[in-house]
Amino acid sequence: MPAVIGLTCDGDLDGRRIYLNAAYVNAILQAGGIPLLLPSGSKKMAEEYLRIIDGLLLTGGGDVDPRLYGEEPKGGLGRILKERDEFELYITQRALVLGKPILAICRGMQVLNVAAGGTLYQDIARELGSSLHNPGGPRNAVHHRVEIRSGTLLGQWLEGQVGVNSMHHQAVRSLGQGLRVSATSEDGVIEAIEGTGEVFVVGVQWHPEELAHLYPEQHELFKRFVVAADIST
Ligand code: MN
Repeated sequence: MPAVIGLTCDGDLDGRRIYLNAAYVNAILQAGGIPLLLPSGSKKMAEEYLRIIDGLLLTGGGDVDPRLYGEEPKGGLGRILKERDEFELYITQRALVLGKPILAICRGMQVLNVAAGGTLYQDIARELGSSLHNPGGPRNAVHHRVEIRSGTLLGQWLEGQVGVNSMHHQAVRSLGQGLRVSATSEDGVIEAIEGTGEVFVVGVQWHPEELAHLYPEQHELFKRFVVAADIST
């Protein structure tokens, strides 16, 4: 059976709708995985999910509650979903312990970093004076370049400068344990992180799911993730 990839979901503040952009699902299908949507739930439910899935895809969405990394909310902080934060932090920490491959996109990369004990900029425009990363426009428009660090997992198929889309107003500040930086943008914002161990654990600040059908190197990210999940079973 192909690898089963669990995808976390977004939702409304009032809890009436659970949703996910189809681009995430399509990217996993194109890479040969079985996408399984994971609504936020209890720790017990997270354990059940982990028994079923071979890999975890942490998707984009609103902001992580800064209190979860030891800070009070500041100006510029966006929408917070308490249930989603708690669920994703727990399932990520458990997936790391269990050695399940993880692909973490945008908010997902921020969740991965906080789950590993790292911190975030609550708003990079206010805290870093950076205006590069949230331009609006089409989700698949390449907006800035990132410099891939050689010797990293990403560097195995991405080289030098790579054009990416950008839809974030937060970023990784201090790195979590067992993680390293694998790409930065020209203004110094961390654009990709990865695990230092053997398991495929990759976080990207851009949205490769919107680019995978246009750029082979972005499709390759999903392919390698699904292969890693397949091997780990
Ligand atoms: Mn960016």
